[in-house]
This record gives sequence, C-alpha cells and structure tokens, in this order.
Amino acid sequence: METKMQAIRTRYHGPTNTMGSRISAKAESGTRYFPYDYASVNPHKDAAEAFANSFGWLKDGSTLESGVFGHDYYFVIVRGKETPMCVGCEASVVSECLCPSGGTL
Ligand SMILES: [Zn+2]
Repeated sequence: METKMQAIRTRYHGPTNTMGSRISAKAESGTRYFPYDYASVNPHKDAAEAFANSFGWLKDGSTLESGVFGHDYYFVIVRGKETPMCVGCEASVVSECLCPSGGTL
C-alpha cells in the first residue's frame, strides 16, 4: 500500500524580545521553527522544503505544491518523475497495481 502523504502547514510568527521573526512548519511528524528569511522570494516554501528534507520526503525528486488559507500556507508532496504511479490505482510499482488492464505506469 502507498504510504500516507503528510501535509505541511507553515505559519509566520512575529519577532519577540528575544527572537527574530520565524516560520513554523508543522505536520503529523512534528513541528520545527525556521528563521524568517527576508531575502527569500518565498520563505514559507523554504521552510516547508527544509522541513520535508529533514524527514527525507523529497529524496526521490518529489516537490512541494502550496496553497494559502488565511495567513497560513499548506504544502503537499508531489511525487517526482522517479516514482511513477499507475494512473488507475496510483500504485507506484507494477507488482502492486490492482487494475484489470495491468495499469499504466
Ligand atoms: Zn493500477
């Protein structure tokens, strides 16, 4: 069976007396904080990618797609071309395909 993909939420946190602005990245696996990079074009994506990479989620060439809700960003993992899926049942290897036609990877 395919592993359940985790979604990542990133949220901006303003500066405090002791710390600069930060972005939190949160998923089922935990929460991590990253300094807010004012020089970055997309600091939320940077944080989400750093978070995902810390779990090895992007090792297979997968990337992140994002959407905005309120002040938060939500990221989902999009499988890389290195891990093709059956268009019928989304199996990632032929032996797991359940399609009568044999599927198309
Ligand atoms: Zn299939």
